[in-house]
Amino acid sequence: MREQDDLQRRGGIGMTSQRTRERLIQRLCEEGVSNAKVLDVIRRTPRHLFVDEALAHRAYEDTALPIGHNQTISQPFMVAHMSELLLEAGPLDKVLEIGTGSGYQTAILAQLVERVFSVERIKVLQDRAKERLVELNLRNVVFRWGDGCDGWQALAPYNGIIVTAVAAEVPQALLDQLAPGGRMVIPVGPAGEVQQLMLIVREEHGFSRRVLGAVRFVPLLNGPLA
Ligand code: SAH
Repeated sequence: MREQDDLQRRGGIGMTSQRTRERLIQRLCEEGVSNAKVLDVIRRTPRHLFVDEALAHRAYEDTALPIGHNQTISQPFMVAHMSELLLEAGPLDKVLEIGTGSGYQTAILAQLVERVFSVERIKVLQDRAKERLVELNLRNVVFRWGDGCDGWQALAPYNGIIVTAVAAEVPQALLDQLAPGGRMVIPVGPAGEVQQLMLIVREEHGFSRRVLGAVRFVPLLNGPLA
């Protein structure tokens, strides 16, 4: 019985049903997401498990939702768009994620690349995200509690880096930890104002930068928080 309840919870009912999820996928397509793998992974990943039960009925709306501690689970379009940008030049084996939050973007990435290294500064969010990934049997993720502005030097370099909080400037440590040919997707700009999503690629000599358009993210803050 318990097992059946669990299955039902994972599969979702009513506002979290497969039909509701399909509508989200349709919307992402209309908004220009075209990577079939990304769309398929989003279709299969139960976003309602990454928010509070009280918000589960809104989990398949294309919107950011609160996850506590003044943070939000990213909007599905942004998760899809950033994942697609990372994968644009081909498959990736090592991806560093800054800002685990609910773990939703982490779970999507874990199904698209070989290994994910995810850094979060708020311990309780990280612990909960870890549990969710275990529950979904996604085992190719390693978590670190700390300040993502420093990246994760010990395991560098990375073929991909994704930052899900906005920085006034791209942290130097993240540029340093990008492998040759590596790609970083990061929102840049002042907190609370118009920010730009950027794609930075490590070329043979220096970095190329592409500005992709206005976005709105919560700020990248300093230091770990218990
Ligand atoms: N992708 C996440 C988004 C979470 S919001 C999701 O879909 O749930 C951004 C996250 O970045 C928050 O959890 C916040 O605590 C975290 N964050 C902010 N500054 C950070 C830093 N310097 N290092 C690591 N994580 C940071």
